[in-house]
Amino acid sequence: MNPYEYVEAHQHEFLEELKEWLRMPSISTLSQHKPDLLRAAEWARQQLESIGLTRVELFPTAGNPVVYGEWLEAGKNAPTVLIYGHYDVQPADDPSKQWKSKPFEPEIRDGNLYARGATDDKGQTLTQIKAVQSLLAAGQLPVNVKFVIEGEEESGSDHLYPFVEQHLDLLKADVLVVSDTGMMGLDRPSIVVSLRGIVSMEFEVRGPSHDLHSGLYGGMVHNPAQALVEIMAAMHRPDGKVAVPGFYDKVRELSGVERAEIAQNPITVERFKEETGAPQPWGEPNYSMQERAGTRPTFEINGIVGGWTGEGGKTVIPEKAVAKVSCRLVAEQDPVEIFELIQRYLAEITPSTVTSSVRLLHKGMWSLVDTQSLYMQAAVRAFEYGFGKRPIFMREGGSIPIMGFMQEKLNAPVVLMGFGLPDDNLHGPNEKYCLECFARGMKTAIYFLHSLGTRG
Ligand SMILES: [Zn+2]
Repeated sequence: MNPYEYVEAHQHEFLEELKEWLRMPSISTLSQHKPDLLRAAEWARQQLESIGLTRVELFPTAGNPVVYGEWLEAGKNAPTVLIYGHYDVQPADDPSKQWKSKPFEPEIRDGNLYARGATDDKGQTLTQIKAVQSLLAAGQLPVNVKFVIEGEEESGSDHLYPFVEQHLDLLKADVLVVSDTGMMGLDRPSIVVSLRGIVSMEFEVRGPSHDLHSGLYGGMVHNPAQALVEIMAAMHRPDGKVAVPGFYDKVRELSGVERAEIAQNPITVERFKEETGAPQPWGEPNYSMQERAGTRPTFEINGIVGGWTGEGGKTVIPEKAVAKVSCRLVAEQDPVEIFELIQRYLAEITPSTVTSSVRLLHKGMWSLVDTQSLYMQAAVRAFEYGFGKRPIFMREGGSIPIMGFMQEKLNAPVVLMGFGLPDDNLHGPNEKYCLECFARGMKTAIYFLHSLGTRG
């Protein structure tokens, strides 16, 4: 039986296994789910063991364990592929109202498997595992394979960073494969070729030492909430560009070829309105919506709070006001450098009537994929085989911070082999994984691994 026939023959069994994994509510941001995370990690460990990997281990960390597995029987001359995935999921939120079926009771409707984690990332991770299983069962795995499946992707990968640093030899590979992104459509296969970096911060503006009566002091004290919004407003120029001096200095401009490629798949105003519900698009001049979202950096207020926000009114001048902000970054911006530029600009524009500070919450590197690498070329052919059409290269606005880090530390190119669809609702209610993507994804992954080993 060849690996493709093996997939066909075991389709049902694979799906049942995925459902089993999806029933574990491994929500990494909520501490009461710790036992579920351990169960989900142990499930992944057993899975890797059962498909015939030669070394499988659960590495404890100060957070959730890292599941590691390897099969190195292809020998020293064959390339080594490191496959990354994650077994933790986002919270389900408000299950009663918005989910049609329960988030941790997987259900198949209209060719889709509905459950939290279905596409992000248990379904996609299992797609890779099953591809390797099928190749091993057929005795046709021509490359060395390593798996790293973490349990903290949805909460910042805090303990994977030191894990990678401490296990550089163990993780050494020629290429990194990640199935944690999406494509444009079943009939529009695409490969993500860039991810944005991120720096997130908390701003604080302080005025008086305590809340003041606005009747007694209003008019002679600079209200910190007002000062904060003045400062926040000064972070953008009226035309939508970020006003922080030096912010764009290191941004790599798009080439004509890149812009032409992006222009092939424009976001229309109608689609924009339908997806967002916002009345009109907004943003940096001279860049299309598609370019703004995937290739340009941003400064975004995620939350702002100060003074009385409870029921009714309270005539008070608050002692302080706070804003949570995150910047999406692109090549070649450095998150720490951007933070320092913002810090300096903040000091410059803060009026002497209040004091201000900004604190770094977390940061992550952007990553750019070399589309000319032989691994990307192999991925292009694999998608063509699995989905019947040559894939388009797509720049995504999101971030997988650990990717840029692993790419740099392991000095290996990345292939983002994403099988999600735009309507998969990852992080939202009614998350799903399209069964066709599962089946075709396995074919694609098999073809990819197979072709890496059989080239000259
Ligand atoms: Zn994910």
